[in-house]
Amino acid sequence: MTDTYAPQADAYPGEALIDHGAIAHNLRVLRAAAPAAQQMAVVKANAYGHGLLPVALTALASGSDWLGVAQLPEAVELREGLDRAGIDRADAPVLAWITTPGSDFAGAIRAGIDLSVSWTWVLDAISAAARAVGRPARVHVKIDTGMSRAGSTLADLPALASALAAAQADGLVEVVGAWSHLSRGDDPSEGGLASTASHVENFERGLRILQNAGVRPAIRHLAATSGILWHPETHYDMVRAGIGLYGLSPDPAVADARELGLRPVMTLRAPLTSVKVIERGAPVSYGGTWEAPTRRWAGLVPLGYGDGVLRSASNAAPVVVRGPGGDVPARCVGRVCMDQFVIDLGPADGAGGTPSSQSGAPPARVGDCAVLFGDPTTGAPTADQWAVAAGTINYEVVTRLGDHIPRIHVRAGRSQ
Ligand SMILES: *Cc1c(COP(=O)(O)O)cnc(C)c1O
Repeated sequence: MTDTYAPQADAYPGEALIDHGAIAHNLRVLRAAAPAAQQMAVVKANAYGHGLLPVALTALASGSDWLGVAQLPEAVELREGLDRAGIDRADAPVLAWITTPGSDFAGAIRAGIDLSVSWTWVLDAISAAARAVGRPARVHVKIDTGMSRAGSTLADLPALASALAAAQADGLVEVVGAWSHLSRGDDPSEGGLASTASHVENFERGLRILQNAGVRPAIRHLAATSGILWHPETHYDMVRAGIGLYGLSPDPAVADARELGLRPVMTLRAPLTSVKVIERGAPVSYGGTWEAPTRRWAGLVPLGYGDGVLRSASNAAPVVVRGPGGDVPARCVGRVCMDQFVIDLGPADGAGGTPSSQSGAPPARVGDCAVLFGDPTTGAPTADQWAVAAGTINYEVVTRLGDHIPRIHVRAGRSQ
């Protein structure tokens, strides 16, 4: 963790450091937890805000076998980037699991992107595109095993399975995978464990339905990070690692990143633009929802909800400032604004009406680095703490970060 903050003159006043060594480390942890399974790195939503292509390249270089995204346009962007980087398509299979009527299925087939099939309308669209392109589409049939989101219900599956068998016989599709997703893989309660057991049972039933129709996918996959860590019976042939790859726990209430041996990948930081004294009773930010309980040092951080800093974390989220005398623990006070928020840096000396310059040594200076969240072993607050402050989950804290915030990719101590 660098203490100095020296952004370029024209740079956005805030940046996210992305630690690629941590990605490689986390992948080792996840591989050790599911040693027999292939690994898919889930890089949807701009790699959970970390940067699609850089994360994908590091994941592949660190032992991921597959890449997964939700939206087809993300997969196309990813494939173009991988092609530019000279990655052989056979070495980097990509699965996209969301398509809509009107999606560019032909483009997906040409780009060598695997597609998910939950419903016959998708299979019909894919088959038509495969006929037009003159090449079979690679598909993964998705089974709804108890989440009622995507996937064929077991009731609908026999019809979909025979349609898949027919399309396969016609040379229009190759059924590469069969898959599903757990809805309560992070839940160790009795109900959660029963849910996961029921998902597995339904998955097995679905696989038998496919087999009876003559569809035999080589790659069965069910587990995301929580399944990797907590449900070995869900590993099958491949696992799909998202949040764990980014060094965050799927549920910190069950076990946090440190307990899991994971290292948070993203550090979000910005330089303070103001350090000043505010008087006892001074209201802070819109609505005056916080009033200084004593004379205080107030710092100003130039990031806000327009940048993806969650407004619901107002008056609660922790921040650490790398001050001249060491780390200064601080806290967001008052409401997070669109482009900045105030932090409380602690009590100030002196009497009311005295200028800041006569109120003793300030705990931090303008330009000092305010760390919103990062790796707690460096003294940074965590995305988990921001999630609690905002009433959400760590997934949202990192994924919401605006695309315009520079990602500084740090590899083996170098940033590039
Ligand atoms: C997002 C997602 C994943 C990854 O989940 P994590 O909990 O982040 O590991 C895996 N599979 C599907 C279908 C997903 O939507």
